[in-house]
Amino acid sequence: MHLAPSSLLLMLLTVLIPEILAGDWHYSEEQWTGQCSEGKKQSPIDLQERIGKRERVEPLIFLHYNRPVQANLTNNGHTVVLNVEQYCEVAVAAGGLRGLYQLDEIHFHWEAEHTIDKKRLPLEVHFVHHNILYNNITQALFYEQGLAVVAVLFHETEQVNTNMVPVLEALEESADTVGDITALTSPFSPSALLPDDRNSFFRYQGSLTTPPCTEAVIWTVLHKTVPISKLQLEKFRTVNTTAGLLDANFRPTQPLNSRTVYLMSDNLIDDNETASAQKFKCWSYIILIIPMILCSSLRQYV
Ligand SMILES: [Zn+2]
Repeated sequence: MHLAPSSLLLMLLTVLIPEILAGDWHYSEEQWTGQCSEGKKQSPIDLQERIGKRERVEPLIFLHYNRPVQANLTNNGHTVVLNVEQYCEVAVAAGGLRGLYQLDEIHFHWEAEHTIDKKRLPLEVHFVHHNILYNNITQALFYEQGLAVVAVLFHETEQVNTNMVPVLEALEESADTVGDITALTSPFSPSALLPDDRNSFFRYQGSLTTPPCTEAVIWTVLHKTVPISKLQLEKFRTVNTTAGLLDANFRPTQPLNSRTVYLMSDNLIDDNETASAQKFKCWSYIILIIPMILCSSLRQYV
């Protein structure tokens, strides 16, 4: 474990954040019970452009995602989790989301969990947020749209993704031992893992992709993918668990059942927009003002 002294508070927060991904379960045993086997709105799913219901929507807002902050990475035995320092709220809003969702953690799945037209890409990153109406993830899990997860898919290229370098350096330090926490050696901006174009995305109602598979997630899967090299991808397969190397950590796709998948963008022809959608657009901008004012006043003291 390599931890800079300035990361002590962040480490404490990491320990306090509910370990929604932790627990006694494995990817190799498909005996997940409860909502995992009985739910009708499970994730991940196969996303198909031709059946996605097209809807015009205002762009997603990634609040304070560009700000470089202290971050650390934890091997929790099921994935590696990035936690970022939050003296200003790092959050998402707008883009059809009903409220402001604060970032809790960023974690990785190798290979990807969501497939596009049945095609599986090598890596998927999940930005897990909870609605600020609720105190934390644990409370938010009781509500259908309590959590908002933004998923980014990665495709393999020849070139190294330089934004991933500090994350993978920390991963190498934490890979061997479950519970190891490693501070990133330089400040990290969550936006470093997003594609430049974030204005087109799939949207559907679903669940956590790990036990207890709670159906409390409004999913946003960005349409544009991010490049990563083969050598960088291989580093994820060096992550160790109590049951040996974690060769893959994705859940198979689940039945869509009666759900609708939306393909949302800000530049579609507007034939579906309703008065209520306009109202949400207005509210989503108003709700952003509070954390922005709070953050600018906090900035004077840090
Ligand atoms: Zn995940």
